[in-house]
Amino acid sequence: MKLCKRCVNPDTRPNIFFNEEGLCPVCQFELQKEKAGIDWEARDRELKEIIEWARENTKSSYDCIVAVSGGKDSTRLACYARDDLGLNPLLVSCLYPPEQMTERGAHNLSNLIELGFDTIAISPDPITWKTMMRQSFFLHANWCRSTEMALYAIPIHAAIAYKIPLVFLGENPAWTIGERHGRLDGDASKMRYCHTLQGGDPTPLMTKDISKKDLHFYTYPPEEDVEHAKIRIIYLGYYIRDWSGYNNAQFSIERGLETRNERPEEIGDLWGFTGLDEDFRIVNQMIKYFKFGFGHVTDQVCEAINSGMMDREEGLELVKKYDGRCDERFIKRFCDYLEISEEEFWEVVDRVVNRELFERDEKGRWRLKEDAIEA
Ligand SMILES: [Zn+2]
Repeated sequence: MKLCKRCVNPDTRPNIFFNEEGLCPVCQFELQKEKAGIDWEARDRELKEIIEWARENTKSSYDCIVAVSGGKDSTRLACYARDDLGLNPLLVSCLYPPEQMTERGAHNLSNLIELGFDTIAISPDPITWKTMMRQSFFLHANWCRSTEMALYAIPIHAAIAYKIPLVFLGENPAWTIGERHGRLDGDASKMRYCHTLQGGDPTPLMTKDISKKDLHFYTYPPEEDVEHAKIRIIYLGYYIRDWSGYNNAQFSIERGLETRNERPEEIGDLWGFTGLDEDFRIVNQMIKYFKFGFGHVTDQVCEAINSGMMDREEGLELVKKYDGRCDERFIKRFCDYLEISEEEFWEVVDRVVNRELFERDEKGRWRLKEDAIEA
C-alpha cells in the first residue's frame, strides 16, 4: 500500500488516482490552490446564480432542502443556508431506528431543530432496515450499503414530493478525501454513482422477506424523475470558505452539538465529533481498515495536514496508532443488534481481510504487517 507523498492518503482507496509524482488528487488540488489560489468571487457568483434560480423555480414556500443528520456538517449547512444566504430551508432527515440511534444523536437532531428550523424526519420501517443491514453486512461486509442509500435518497424524494428544486449536501468527497464519482465542483448530481450508493438501486440487497414496495425510500429517484422535477443537487461545502470537518465541529459545538467522550483507541477517531448519532459506524471503519488498510483516522489526518494543523510525520504516527481501532463492546452491540453471533461476525470479516496487508498476531487478531505501508 502506497501513501501519498504529501499527505497520508492511501492508493487502496476506491476510485482514487495518484499522479506520477505520487501525489493523491487532494494534494494535487491543494498545490494548484497554493499556486493559483481559489477564485472565491467566481464561486460566490456561481452560488448566487444557483440561489436565484432556486427562488424563481421553487413551487413551495421553501427555497431549498438541506439534508441533515444533526451532526457537525449538517448544523453548519442549515445555519449557513438560512443565516448567510438568507434562504428559507426545509431540513430533511432520515432517522435511524430507536434501537440504533444514540441518545447523543437524538439530542443533536433536537438541538438543530431548536435552532429554529422546519424539519421533516422520515423513519424507515426498523424491521426492513435491519434485514437490509444484515444483508449488506453478509454480502459486502459493509452494513451501511443499504442505510446510506436511504440517507441519500430521502432528501431527493422530499424535493420531488414538495416541489423544492434545490437540495444541499455537504462536501464533495473528491476534494476532501480524493474519492471521485463526478465533477470536481459543487455539482452533486452524480452522487448516486459513489462507491457506497452504486447507482442507488437497493434491489441486489433484497431478501425473500422484502418486496420492492418496501424499498421506496432506499431507491434513489430515477434520473428522468430528477430531471423532470428540475432538481439541482449541490455540495454547499464547496462554496464555503472555511468549510472543514474541524471548523464545522467548532461552529456546531458553540451552538449545542454534543460530541463523543470516548478515547481514540476505542473509536478509531481522533476528535470524536464524527458519526455521533449511532455507534456501528465505528465497527464499519474497522472493517474498512481490514479491507483497504485505512480507516477514519486517515481521513482526519489528511484533512489536518492539508489545513496546516499537522505535519505528515505526526499524522503518520496517529494513523499507525489509532486507525481502525474499535472497542470490543461496539462489536458486541453490533452483533446483538443484527442478531448474529460474534463467530458469524468474524467469519464475514475474515473473508474480506486483505491478506497482503494484514497478518494474525499471537492472539489471533488481525494486525497490519510491518512492511504493509510504503510511506
Ligand atoms: Zn495527498
